Amino acid sequence: MYSKKTILIVDDDSLIISILKDKIERKIKNINILTALSYKEAIKHILDKTQNIDVAILDLNLPEVESGAVVDYAMKKNIPTIVLTATINESLKKILIKNNIIDYILKNGKRGIDHAVDCALRILKHQGTNILLVDDAIVDLTLISDVLKKMKFNVITAKNGLEAYGILQNSDVKFSLVITDYNMPKMDGMTLILKIREDFDKDELAIIALSGYEDEELSSHLISVGANDFLTKPYSDIELITRISSNLELLDLFQKTKDMANKDFLTGAFNRRYFFDQGEIIFNKAKKQKKDLVVAMFDIDKFKNINDTYGHDVGDIAIVEVANILNKYLDESALMARFGGEEFCVLLDDITLDEAKILFENIRKAFEKNIIDINDLKIQFTTSIGICYGVFDTLDIMIKKADDGLYTCKNNGRNQIAMYTESR
Ligand code: GH3
Ligand code: MG
Ligand code: MG
Repeated sequence: MYSKKTILIVDDDSLIISILKDKIERKIKNINILTALSYKEAIKHILDKTQNIDVAILDLNLPEVESGAVVDYAMKKNIPTIVLTATINESLKKILIKNNIIDYILKNGKRGIDHAVDCALRILKHQGTNILLVDDAIVDLTLISDVLKKMKFNVITAKNGLEAYGILQNSDVKFSLVITDYNMPKMDGMTLILKIREDFDKDELAIIALSGYEDEELSSHLISVGANDFLTKPYSDIELITRISSNLELLDLFQKTKDMANKDFLTGAFNRRYFFDQGEIIFNKAKKQKKDLVVAMFDIDKFKNINDTYGHDVGDIAIVEVANILNKYLDESALMARFGGEEFCVLLDDITLDEAKILFENIRKAFEKNIIDINDLKIQFTTSIGICYGVFDTLDIMIKKADDGLYTCKNNGRNQIAMYTESR
């Protein structure tokens, strides 16, 4: 999920450093954690050109330097920063509300440390997320865009609703979030939200609306037409970042819920129900366009032997390997699902009969050659593949034909493909 990211932790209390480090390592495996007990050590890390710090958790007060010295330094280097502090007062708050401080956190108390870790990991996870920012006031557009870029979001800007809508319609970029002003020429924020919601649901593209004046009715109206959230100007950078983070977090949760409903827990492949939902859509489109499809049914040969010889856990590993190999050989457009047990089904469009034969023969060979290393064990297995090519009356018929093919393979000695096709 994450490419290797780097986090810097600075505190003169070694206990706080080790607690933070421990909590982070428990939550995310593949991370590079740099630590420093002093200002001097921290600067050394920041200046080290061989590392790029993605996020920092910094103690406000360090010995031998002015309060906030390391925070200022990190900000100059555009490092997204979470500030840890023992006390907070109004004048300090004012200083801290600067544009690449993600948040400031009171470090005494358990929740403070947990909060710092959550904040840092959330920012890391969302770095690189595509955000479309829409505002006709160039000054505001630049200011917000700078803040977001410093957090390492990928920002694309538009000067009004119309331009934003065009970008959403025509660009290949998959946006997660739109932040839009309300008052704009050509197309205002309200209309833009309405237009966006014709194509994108709230759980796939979040919208935060910015309203220029305090108007409670306007804010609730923006939500009712489809904004996920709103911010009333003036707002602080910390407020903006917090709202963005929490909205992106919600999108992740929506995705998790969808995955739980649509995916198989063991292999992460889609489940049978999802296969039929999506399969019908692909099938109907192909039928309308009179284009051929291919349905292939996979089943591990003599799988019971693996279970009986090595146990159910090893059997499970073999099942996961089927999903891995299929994912390796199939591209994004293929619909692949675990139908049950050690049986998988694949639906592909846009493929010729010859290409299909070659593809599935290659996959069969890949299984034949593949060796799974489990500690001292080496497991090898073959698969049989029943295939149906063409466009038949229903998807169910195609699946039935593929299943018949599978049966033929098993009867003829396994480790082979059987292709059924019908000229139209
Ligand atoms: P054939 O070559 O004819 O396909 O023989 P086979 O032994 O593979 O026979 P079959 O396909 O009927 O075997 C399915 C077995 O898969 C039976 C069941 O115990 C086992 N199984 C089903 N689900 C799971 C699972 O989630 N994990 C494991 N380890 N085994 C499973
Ligand atoms: Mg089997
Ligand atoms: Mg089976």
